[in-house]
Amino acid sequence: MGYSYDDQNIFAKILRGEIPCNKVHETEHSLAFTDIAPKAPHHVLVIPKGAYVCYDHFAQEASDAEIVDYTRAVGEICAKLGVSPGDGGAGYRMIYNAGDDGLQEVPHLHVHILAGRNIGPLVVTPT
Ligand code: 5GP
Repeated sequence: MGYSYDDQNIFAKILRGEIPCNKVHETEHSLAFTDIAPKAPHHVLVIPKGAYVCYDHFAQEASDAEIVDYTRAVGEICAKLGVSPGDGGAGYRMIYNAGDDGLQEVPHLHVHILAGRNIGPLVVTPT
């Protein structure tokens, strides 16, 4: 069946400059900005500029250049935030949500980078 991308999603509008964002980092193929409802002292969303719904879509269909750019951008953002354990930072968690079970709200691939406090258990079991 494959993916169909909704170009009216909120991150597509941010990419087109139709709504503002608090930009943290930008590269040729990627953009990072702070989450509007932060769940930690650092809560950054990193998105590819291409029209990909979620991670497996990106992994299957993005070009090598886009994948390298996106991966490097994440590393650059961790360095910028000062959270990289390799440089004495306290660490971070990255979360990709996808689809209904993943509770993905915005259908444009994004990784959450959460840092600045202990992020807590990996998964909270629904009651
Ligand atoms: P998801 O549940 O899809 O993984 O996460 C979507 C994230 O996008 C949420 O954490 C939400 O707070 C964030 N978000 C939703 N609308 C906006 C917006 O207009 N601007 C920014 N910066 N973040 C948004």
